[in-house]
Amino acid sequence: MIPTSVTATIAALDAANGQHIAGAGRPGVDGRVYDVNDPATGVLLSHVSDGGPADATAAVDAAAAAFGGWSTTAPRVRGEALRKAWELMTARSEELAALISAENGKALPDARAEVAYAAEFFRWFSEEAVRPEGSYGESPAGGTRTIVTEHPVGVAALVTPWNFPAAMATRKIGPALAAGCTVVLKPAAETPLTALAVAQILEEAGVPAGVVNVVNSTDPGAIVSTWLEDDRVRKISFTGSTGVGRILLGQAADRIVNSSMELGGNAPFVVAADADIDKAVAGALIAKFRNGGQACTAANRFYVHADVVEDFVAKFGAAIEAMPVGSAFEDGTVIGPMISAKAVAGLTAKVEDALNRGAKVAYEATPTTLTGHFYTPALLVDVPQDAKIVREEAFGPVAPIIIWTDEADVLRQVNNTEFGLASYVFSGDLKWALQFAEKVEAGMVGINRGVVSDPAAPFGGVKESGLGREGAREGVRAFTETQYFSVDWS
Ligand code: NAD
Repeated sequence: MIPTSVTATIAALDAANGQHIAGAGRPGVDGRVYDVNDPATGVLLSHVSDGGPADATAAVDAAAAAFGGWSTTAPRVRGEALRKAWELMTARSEELAALISAENGKALPDARAEVAYAAEFFRWFSEEAVRPEGSYGESPAGGTRTIVTEHPVGVAALVTPWNFPAAMATRKIGPALAAGCTVVLKPAAETPLTALAVAQILEEAGVPAGVVNVVNSTDPGAIVSTWLEDDRVRKISFTGSTGVGRILLGQAADRIVNSSMELGGNAPFVVAADADIDKAVAGALIAKFRNGGQACTAANRFYVHADVVEDFVAKFGAAIEAMPVGSAFEDGTVIGPMISAKAVAGLTAKVEDALNRGAKVAYEATPTTLTGHFYTPALLVDVPQDAKIVREEAFGPVAPIIIWTDEADVLRQVNNTEFGLASYVFSGDLKWALQFAEKVEAGMVGINRGVVSDPAAPFGGVKESGLGREGAREGVRAFTETQYFSVDWS
């Protein structure tokens, strides 16, 4: 059951008029709406305005009109608005967590953690806003002075996924606003409500109308291609699947639009023979089951040394068996529903493929009686390397275990993927762990811990997991262009 307080929060968002443009909600130009449902029960949460290309253009009109004012607003003032947004999000964390759980289905503890993480991007970037980069110096040959400065890139198009509806938005909006950009945001159609709440909080915090605009739509291709064809849009920052990222990079190529891509992953989780097994199991539970396994950083394949595999599997399996599955709002729920019937079907097919290749389900949680989009958490053993669940992102609560003995061989298996986002290494020997981690082809390596996300650290991937970094100082650089002046000094 969705609590009545959440129903009231949703009603106040007025999502049927959910094109948030120039500081106000409005219906889409075509007047269409679509349904957003609770993934645990299928119950209707809200009608949401379904925008089209005309709404996309109206959003750019507003962002372009606001750019002159915002980009010349003092960095301190921009920073204070972001800081205030952090305060507001923190003060309303319970309300926001419940909203995320309602539309995304994730367990309330996961939603609360997401709100804290999401808000922290506003605090971190409020602090970065007042530290613009630049330099002034003599050129090597003498006779000139070189001045280097950074400018906001312009109107930025932001496209976000459903799995972290608050954090993926704030991780882009925070640095964009700190840099002086204005934005047009297209959230995932599954989770439009959280984005509307974030936009309203920013305006309450003092961000002027038109700086943050949100277009909701069930036709993402039409919205984003409208933006990429509009010469006022100078930046695309996308988080989502590698397949869609590839399409958008192709479209961005036409006008050479500055592109940042946070794409899919296939994180290996390596446990060495000398690892602290209790710590490795605790890390595995977070790395695999946070967000119900629907995280780009989710551990996707577990390589456990033969000497410790029995102990690791017994402890990890016991914890999986005990995992409460249910609606986000039931007391004690750890694993909520997956986002959609399609997501459940995709994971089911991957597990069946593994079982057909000889894998076995060694441990399983107790299934829920709810009829929503649930997949019961499970641990698979005897999983061959060529199983789809090893080669592709599972994006759900299933952990496949692979046994290793030879270091060179496991490193080859770890890197035998087109992805390179997160990875995890557990060992009692930090030097060995670091030496191994340096050879792992991934943008991020958790060493003896199951979480790599941190607003103060550069988040991103190599290979087909993406281009560029979010968070840290790098997050702001993604929204600036460098200009330099060469000054005659004779
Ligand atoms: P998705 O690629 O289907 O959708 C992401 C966004 O792109 C949504 O807003 C969607 O509406 C939009 N979109 C879909 N098709 C489009 C098109 N043709 N043109 C323009 N926009 C389009 O991904 P998803 O299923 O929402 O999210 C899961 C994926 O996101 C996983 O692969 C996951 O690993 C990845 N992800 C990556 C990160 C990261 O930081 N690297 C973070 C979270 C999720």
